[in-house]
Amino acid sequence: TPTIGVLALQGDVREHLQTLDTLGVATLSVRRPEELARCDGLVLPGGESTTIIRLARIFDLLEPLRDRVAAGMPAFGTCAGMILLADRIEGGVEGQETVGGLDVTVRRNAFGRQVDSFEEDLHVAGLDDPVHAVFIRAPWVEEVGPGVEVLARVEGGPADGRIVGVREGHLMATSFHPEVGGDARVHGLFVDLVGRG
Ligand code: GLN
Repeated sequence: TPTIGVLALQGDVREHLQTLDTLGVATLSVRRPEELARCDGLVLPGGESTTIIRLARIFDLLEPLRDRVAAGMPAFGTCAGMILLADRIEGGVEGQETVGGLDVTVRRNAFGRQVDSFEEDLHVAGLDDPVHAVFIRAPWVEEVGPGVEVLARVEGGPADGRIVGVREGHLMATSFHPEVGGDARVHGLFVDLVGRG
């Protein structure tokens, strides 16, 4: 069984651990480099990307995270986690750093004040039935590099067609929160990715 860590500096860590637990993988909260070293894959949760990146630096995790991701460790970012995996951010705070690895530009808080949070059923590549997607002050993907596969787009409304799920090699990310709502299928796609690694 693979061991999948959840970066546990800030954000909705417990929901990810609970979802992963239903998939029969070993799970681990990651706050220290030694814990990261034990992971076959890592989830970067939703929360506040500026806080998570600051804490990663303070906890001496930022360089180890960059090194593991660059060396091919599968990683899955949701919402703030998507921002952390992106190579480029728009609408970030001045000089906001990332772990990087995903050849995408994400726009932070992209959906704007009026639609701060919303829910929508949408199709995710690789899954037969739609996923109930929860968006909370979410980013969207503004631009993807040539190696990036689009997994999901907003369906309808003012943001129709905006990219909200991507995969590139060993990395995947969603703007929404598949860890809330008791549907483990998107995490299942990630576990498959870890299994292939
Ligand atoms: N708006 C947050 C950020 O920029 C992300 C929100 C979330 O993860 N739910 O980090």
